[in-house]
Amino acid sequence: MSAPALPGWEHVYSGKVRDLYRPAGEHPDGDVVLVVASDRISAYDHVLPTPIPGKGEVLTRLSLWWFDQLADIVPNHLVSTDVPAQVAGRAMVCRRLEMFPVECVARGYLTGSGMTEYRQTQAVCGVPLPPGLVEAARLPEPIFTPARKAEVGDHDENITFAAVAEMLGQERAAELRDLTLAVYARAAEVAARSGIIVADTKLEFGLGADGTVVLGDEVLTPDSSRFWPTDGYTPGRVQPSFDKQFVRDWLTSPDSGWDRESVPPPLPDHVVQRTRERYLEAAERLIG
Ligand code: ATP
Ligand code: MG
Repeated sequence: MSAPALPGWEHVYSGKVRDLYRPAGEHPDGDVVLVVASDRISAYDHVLPTPIPGKGEVLTRLSLWWFDQLADIVPNHLVSTDVPAQVAGRAMVCRRLEMFPVECVARGYLTGSGMTEYRQTQAVCGVPLPPGLVEAARLPEPIFTPARKAEVGDHDENITFAAVAEMLGQERAAELRDLTLAVYARAAEVAARSGIIVADTKLEFGLGADGTVVLGDEVLTPDSSRFWPTDGYTPGRVQPSFDKQFVRDWLTSPDSGWDRESVPPPLPDHVVQRTRERYLEAAERLIG
């Protein structure tokens, strides 16, 4: 599952899911990167040895669609989808950005690391919340809960707005917070029409060569967001979601025999198939 060799492009970086390339020579669109979404899947900060066929295509299709839905809120890094045939449908030519070292997370509901923090401090990333909120509760209003990008193999760490301001300056921090909340508000409204709750989402912004803030990476995919079906939403318990639920359930079940530390085992076929169906269903519900 290593990054494929692509004519006209030089591989420069592989994250858990995406492979990045730079033009092998001069590119007609200028300072660009090719962002290729692989079929790799990660869980508990490990890349699993078994790919989910078609996942890279779904992530790309969703990101492209969302960029369109958000175009009046923030410019994005998409330049074109004119990409090598080998990665057609799962790659985008993008403006090369200087990425901010902050994951910009918006939460409209309380779950995951947010819930863990709330139980300890009644706040998330320094944002105080009312008492008595249960798992999956809707927050009084969406909040900005940034995280520091971890080194490879480490967990991202929740940080306060003040910490972001210290890193990037007050003005830039406020700009990223406002953009993140504006994107979340639009996404929540659009997804609601398809019977989907966007519980939270993680965005990555970068600086373009002209100094403007640009939305990069992937947006509002099941990998970067928690999507819950509106139907059956019940605060007080963990919600089923359109993402890695089957993978996580299996990995933590006795069947897998995995300790969350060692190299993860290959996924059985039925887990691969059901996970693939979940990703496809999210895209079909949203895009139609
Ligand atoms: P990490 O970067 O820590 O490996 P990850 O495992 O989530 O995180 P992927 O999402 O697989 O990484 O890879 C995408 C990488 O490309 C991220 O590091 C992201 O910040 C970076 N990236 C996304 N868009 C751009 C862009 N337009 N210019 C430069 N880098 C980008
Ligand atoms: Mg990523």
